[in-house]
Amino acid sequence: MGVRIGVLALQGNVSEHIDAFERALETTGHGTPSPVFPVKRASDIAGCVALAIPGGESTTISRLIEKNHLHEPIRTFSGGIFATCAGMVLMATQVDDPRVCPLGLIEMTVNRNAFGRQKESFESDIVLAGVGGGPFHAVFIRAPVATSAGAGVHVLARVGQGIVAVEQGKHMALSFHPELGSDTRLHERFLKNLGF
Ligand code: GLN
Repeated sequence: MGVRIGVLALQGNVSEHIDAFERALETTGHGTPSPVFPVKRASDIAGCVALAIPGGESTTISRLIEKNHLHEPIRTFSGGIFATCAGMVLMATQVDDPRVCPLGLIEMTVNRNAFGRQKESFESDIVLAGVGGGPFHAVFIRAPVATSAGAGVHVLARVGQGIVAVEQGKHMALSFHPELGSDTRLHERFLKNLGF
């Protein structure tokens, strides 16, 4: 039986997430017959063990989540959620932009575009707590940061004062884009936390 993974396909970098999870599943030995596919409907999401919420524009993804009545189906999803960048914004309990209606699945306060204009995009080798294999080459694109996180949140990495990688329960949220590189350690860690 395959590990069914869905990528929320309302807006953003969907195909990169599909490719990255397919590579991670191959590495973990769950490659075939594990489909990773775009999801747009509540019924598709319910059939998955994991859901990726991609980067993109969090205000747009949030508007489309509400328009398509997906807020409750995602909030009550029983699997793990792997969220990057705009996805991290959506996972928060509090966001600095009222246009985003966050899912509240990770106890944290997030600021959108936290690195401002001068550093809108940059790459950095960051150290991830508890992730072996050396620093992780992280690509930040108009990235958010968490300015605070609750007691139940495991902080994996910070850049300066800003929290850029967290886990809570089955969920992982990252302000950078591991799906854009070839390093699947974080995808593998997320799958391992789910028992795969
Ligand atoms: N700054 C964007 C937002 O808040 C996120 C950027 C991204 O996902 N690359 O929606």
